[in-house]
Amino acid sequence: MSDISIGSFSPSAAAQAFLDKGKHKLFIGGEWVDASGGGHFPTHDPASGDVIGQIAKGGAGDVEKAVTAAREAFETGPWSAMTPMERSAILQRIADLMEANIDELAELETLDQGKALYVGRWAEIPGAIAQFRYFAGLAPAIEGSSIPTSINYQPEGKEIFAYTRKEAVGVVGAIVPWNSPLVLTAMKLAPALAAGCTLVLKPAEDTSLTALRLVELMAEAGLPAGVINLITGLGAEAGSHLASHPDVNKIAFTGSTATGRAIVDASKGNLKRVTLELGGKSPVIIMPDADLDAAIPGAANAIFFNGGQVCIAGSRLYAHSSVYDQVVEGIVAAAKSIKLGHGLDPETHMGPLVSAQHAAKVASYIESAKAEGGTVHCGGNVTGPNASFVEPTVITGLAPDAKALCEEIFGPVLVIQSFDNTDEVVAAANNSEYGLAAGIWSEGLSNATRLASRLNAGTVWINSHAMYDASLPIGGTKQSGYGRDSGQAALENYLELKTVCAVV
Ligand code: NAD
Repeated sequence: MSDISIGSFSPSAAAQAFLDKGKHKLFIGGEWVDASGGGHFPTHDPASGDVIGQIAKGGAGDVEKAVTAAREAFETGPWSAMTPMERSAILQRIADLMEANIDELAELETLDQGKALYVGRWAEIPGAIAQFRYFAGLAPAIEGSSIPTSINYQPEGKEIFAYTRKEAVGVVGAIVPWNSPLVLTAMKLAPALAAGCTLVLKPAEDTSLTALRLVELMAEAGLPAGVINLITGLGAEAGSHLASHPDVNKIAFTGSTATGRAIVDASKGNLKRVTLELGGKSPVIIMPDADLDAAIPGAANAIFFNGGQVCIAGSRLYAHSSVYDQVVEGIVAAAKSIKLGHGLDPETHMGPLVSAQHAAKVASYIESAKAEGGTVHCGGNVTGPNASFVEPTVITGLAPDAKALCEEIFGPVLVIQSFDNTDEVVAAANNSEYGLAAGIWSEGLSNATRLASRLNAGTVWINSHAMYDASLPIGGTKQSGYGRDSGQAALENYLELKTVCAVV
């Protein structure tokens, strides 16, 4: 194992000024306040292990206050009285302020999460901004419809006038994970606000910094008090209290399948609406007619982008037997060329994983693959001063029921299998408890689109992977969850359909 050096990189003055606050607070009813228990927990730069902030440890009492503030803002605050155009203008202002502070947001995300700066600066933060702009556009376009009826017992001389209204669902609890914190937060906040909801946001304990900065910007943009409330804290305390709270109308959750189940259990008391964006084990298929010059780097990027800490990562690669050797060779070469380093280093392709603890978990899957007879072609080691980097790893030779081929690893670990015909690869690709995404590489668009229809996944990419847009619904089938983020489908999650039937 060759240990890497991470050098020393200073954040910009703006990011440093934010870090200099040291101890952070909660945001409830338009005020920055300490957690009622007064406690904090440290957040770290995962590359070095250095403490870069103290996060307020919100508890049940704080969630109570935040839900009360969100309820008041929903029922009586200026938010509910605003026109859709006024709400839209505030969403645009939030996007403008994010754009004006994009470098700082990207740096904070890198420092807190570890990701290479380009991932945040060019993909995730622009993606978060796009969410606010897209849903700003949809806010004034929320429409019901008028419905002809066949009721034949209306009073003489009267008519039936029936129509639907789409109304905000109410107070939303948004609970998000640590892998792409800001963009996943925006995917909840933007449609909820466009619909007219108010929110309590609970970011992941490892990555609260960009949520804190975003909420500052939202207040600066003129979002009325109580519309967004931020409770940092632990999932088992703040998160579970929010999920079970009787006055929360909906939980919008992104995270692991195990926590998704806990959220469903906690939500039962008041039968709150729940949408779940959960884990994945997404297959990528390279057909014999693929353009390998595009497919090989594309499949490598599908797993190694953001260190594989991506829900839709292409972590199972199926290469047709006629191109298998070339694909393995090409992917291994691509993996070996990836430069690990501190995320702020402009030379870095891949930063550390979010924590040493997560790196150890990823490494345990590599060990299990070796024990199950897999061949590790490259990588396989944990490295760096904080033992938080995992080298890009390529494994072949596993049986279909091997742990590393079935379970979500959430790290830079790719398992490659070969196949001989389409029926075989469809069966293998669909043989998973997950159904989040899939990728197909083929120059035959007719065959590829027919194959896309046969894959059990919420999204299928053809000749690409992870092409995201605020307009494209994303979400899973099977144990990858239910409901969709992004696109018009996401807005429906935050709306209730009311039918009005009048005799006039
Ligand atoms: P996690 O489930 O451990 O945590 C997610 C959030 O839930 C955190 O904010 C955490 O504090 C909170 N939480 C934990 N326990 C809770 C409880 N009992 N009640 C309420 N909240 C609780 O997930 P993670 O490890 O932070 O994130 C990685 C997972 O997220 C992976 O499985 C990944 O696939 C998934 N993910 C899915 C998508 C998607 O769109 N489908 C996107 C990104 C990540």
